[in-house]
Amino acid sequence: MTESKTEFRFVKPGEVRVRFAPSPTGFLHLGLARTALVNYIFARKNEGKFILRIEDTDIERSKEVFEKDILEGLKWLGIKWDEGPDIGGNYGPYRQSQRRAIYKKYLEKLLKEGKAYYCFCSKEELEAERQYQMSIGQPPHYSGRCASLSKEEVKRRLSEGKPSVIRFRMPSRKVVFNDLIRGGVEFDTSLIGDIVIAKDLDNPLYNFSVVVDDFEMKISHVIRGEDHISNTPKQILIQEALGFSHPAYAHLPLILGPDRTKLSKRHGAVAIAEYRKEGYLPQALINFMAFLGWNPGTEREIYSLNSLIKDFSLDRIQKSGAVFNIKRLDFLNGFYIRQTPVEKLTELCIPYLVEEKLIEPVWNSEKLYVEGYKIVATGETISFNYLTKIVSIYRERLKKLSEIVELTDFFFKEKLDYEKQLLKWREMSEREIKYALARAEKQLSRIEEENWDREKLQEILVREAEKVAEKLKREGRGYLLWPVRVALTGKATSASPFEVAEVLGKEKTLRRLRQAIEMI
Ligand code: GLU
Repeated sequence: MTESKTEFRFVKPGEVRVRFAPSPTGFLHLGLARTALVNYIFARKNEGKFILRIEDTDIERSKEVFEKDILEGLKWLGIKWDEGPDIGGNYGPYRQSQRRAIYKKYLEKLLKEGKAYYCFCSKEELEAERQYQMSIGQPPHYSGRCASLSKEEVKRRLSEGKPSVIRFRMPSRKVVFNDLIRGGVEFDTSLIGDIVIAKDLDNPLYNFSVVVDDFEMKISHVIRGEDHISNTPKQILIQEALGFSHPAYAHLPLILGPDRTKLSKRHGAVAIAEYRKEGYLPQALINFMAFLGWNPGTEREIYSLNSLIKDFSLDRIQKSGAVFNIKRLDFLNGFYIRQTPVEKLTELCIPYLVEEKLIEPVWNSEKLYVEGYKIVATGETISFNYLTKIVSIYRERLKKLSEIVELTDFFFKEKLDYEKQLLKWREMSEREIKYALARAEKQLSRIEEENWDREKLQEILVREAEKVAEKLKREGRGYLLWPVRVALTGKATSASPFEVAEVLGKEKTLRRLRQAIEMI
């Protein structure tokens, strides 16, 4: 067995060309998006190009919806490609299904040079071979039955229309390459056997088409998930057989669930579109994904895409699996939500309220723009400005945009639906609750509309709460503030009664207090 000397060419920063090459056989998920992100950052950092290539040679499993989802997801995350199926570039087409003629040329070359050959073994024969090898403790691999068929024999079988595939004659030796993350990696290809590289001349398989494309598209660095590491020696040997130079390789650690198995749907959402729907912000996901297997070596946790381009480097990526921690994502999302100006945040929250049918957009007469919103339950019209007030009192608490529904639905209801038990603070009797609410109602009804603001409400309610506590011979403001807050929100937790009452307005506040009094 000889050792392959894999020479990797030196690349100047301006020559850096990396690619993200998803197969459109599923939605863009966290693992893929992380791979795209690292490639993107690497390209930007090195003044190189980031290429998007769609690997859709598996026609049965590739679907347009998936391709669309991948493109949309990347755009939403802010990961922009310099060349790709939608924008073209100098090395296109960028969809493998449109590159068949290119692959064919190289397949023919390998066949002609005897570096690849037709194999006619049936599924049953291969399966029997596999079973046998396993029974004698050998790793299953193709034994090479068709490797030495004569040219005439091959021609005859092909002309008879015998089903066949094309196999690569795998040189048997040690392949060593320097992974930019993992260091020296060594594989013994004698255990792999002659792999199938194409179903026929028009239908190449992954390991072959990827080699041709990486070469034709002048890819300098292949940065991809660790699940591909066993493909790398195969690809290196195919590159050698074709006389291609080798790109540099970097394999990113797997993403693991909290139970340390490979992250999957079992662990909750993994599709980027799902995170988006739940109300995670792209900045939070970017920050979060960058830290899957990487850290800056400092305490700093907050990184925008631009600051990542400055500080991120492959040599700080760990080799071991990166554990996914949803709490961290929630923490980052909360941070970015608080960073978002309230008008922008309101715009982001509105679709969730509309989706829940709490509010409805009101279009101008030409249906050109939205001039306001309607509360569905009451028919009342409210302004965008009013919605920003609601959002602003919840901004601190919001971890995901979708939570806006659960937190603020009471603003959009005609009548609240809650158990009267909820009005009770500590050991209060019903009579006492009623008393406290009536006192609050009486005091609030005296406030003039133009003085109806948070400070005034707080001043009045706190003063009254103290009086009520004294009267009830108890300690604390909760004996009034708790029942008032519940009467206004119907919830055990919420923003303060002053903030809520300010936004609800005088009329609704008083009505809700009366409704609560009647309920008891
Ligand atoms: N198309 C492959 C995949 O989606 C990626 C290939 C590569 O990065 O080499 O897993």
